[in-house]
Amino acid sequence: MLIAALAILISTPLSLQTTPGSTQTPALERKDVDYIPDVITKITKTSAEWRKSLSASQFQILRQAATERAFANSFWNNHTDGLYSCAGCDLPLFYASTKFDSGTGWPSFYQPIQKRVVSERRDPDGERVEILCARCDGHLGHLFDDANGQFGIPKTPTGLRYCMNSGAMRFRKKLPDRPKP
Ligand SMILES: [Zn+2]
Repeated sequence: MLIAALAILISTPLSLQTTPGSTQTPALERKDVDYIPDVITKITKTSAEWRKSLSASQFQILRQAATERAFANSFWNNHTDGLYSCAGCDLPLFYASTKFDSGTGWPSFYQPIQKRVVSERRDPDGERVEILCARCDGHLGHLFDDANGQFGIPKTPTGLRYCMNSGAMRFRKKLPDRPKP
């Protein structure tokens, strides 16, 4: 059972992340960023609208189903506790606690926060299962059932591997626990 409330540090959007060498720390804010509405209402925008609200690489991944390079993306080696949400619409997708080292060079998770935050669609060639954001239909990555300790992929609690693109997500770091009074 996952913990419902997660105190999170609000990070800047991926496209605006801090420049190397910057000593500024982002402001802290506490809110239920992992809140998921009972009814997930679809967000639809034109291509031109998406181009305005996303970076070029986010647009290629989320709206054109591109795959970013392995081992050359923001989160494949991120071990910080926190929350991953959709870079297109900010719907909460994965807790860092369900992330595992798949060895593939892409951020890999064994389950979404709730099954209903993602949708599955079979690729046209019938080979792979595409994973999309349930709210904005942005392409996130693919789902595999090979997390069983064979073929070099570690065994996960579900046997599943949600192989995601870092560029399709934003990350918020978990805040330290409040000191006890
Ligand atoms: Zn989305």
